[in-house]
Amino acid sequence: MSSKVFLGLDIGGTYIKIVAKQGKEIVKDKEYTEEVKDSTERLLDKIVEIIKRYDPDRVGIAVAGLYDIKEEKITDAPNLKVLQGVPLKEIIERKAGVSVVIQNDATLAAYGEYIYGAGKGSNILICLTLGTGLGGGAVINGKPLIGVSGSAMEIGHITVQIDGLPCHCGRRGCLEAYVSSYGLERIFFINTSEYRTSFEIINLANEGKKEAIETIEEFSRYLSIGLMNIAHLFNPDRIILSGGIIENYPLIEELVYSDLRHLAFPLPFRDLEIKRGSLGEFSGAFGALALAENLAL
Ligand SMILES: [Zn+2]
Repeated sequence: MSSKVFLGLDIGGTYIKIVAKQGKEIVKDKEYTEEVKDSTERLLDKIVEIIKRYDPDRVGIAVAGLYDIKEEKITDAPNLKVLQGVPLKEIIERKAGVSVVIQNDATLAAYGEYIYGAGKGSNILICLTLGTGLGGGAVINGKPLIGVSGSAMEIGHITVQIDGLPCHCGRRGCLEAYVSSYGLERIFFINTSEYRTSFEIINLANEGKKEAIETIEEFSRYLSIGLMNIAHLFNPDRIILSGGIIENYPLIEELVYSDLRHLAFPLPFRDLEIKRGSLGEFSGAFGALALAENLAL
């Protein structure tokens, strides 16, 4: 007798990440979406094609955007505009003939780390994904915090500076306006009048270039303020930081930990652990897999 197959997909602007599980066996893969990402129909066809290839019993899908759990559609997807307003669940279930569960990618990244990664065993877990934007997710006593509508934990869009730098969401002074790849690039530009990509800035810092190190220190101070707010609101036992910036410059973890010692109340600081994620770019797909396995029973 063969065991059930579960599939987790993370649909982003550049790749669809795939994690499939049968019994104890897990396989990972990713597919480039560049050629189909500008057409709703072709992107949907691609998703359906992937699902059919694995022939799963249930599919979990992580999407880069706000997912309305009542209307069952994506309402805001700045990095995946072709899926905005699309009733993804209904269409994919019909075309692929399989049950589908959908959630926001950052929420599922947290759930993925909780079930399969660096968040195992945590009671109140917060996960921040530092990439093009700043995603946030929480898992409270084993359950992802989704919110009434599906939009909980938009940590990237808490205000840390009144009338601060503009954010991609249209507001000003959001945490993401500073703590993201574009935030890092902007801080460097403000300090040096020189444009460098976030990747170049991190390389320069790793080579010991003073302006780049100072830029990362400033970036880390904003991150620390965000973490302080999280510590004061949630009193978590673990905060996981993931994404390319952290992976390529792990010192950020130490910088924010020593900042927090001074910034936060001693009580929530005492029981707080800050760790790096262990699932890398597949955290959202692992969360989608876990959602398909655990939440749709
Ligand atoms: Zn914002």
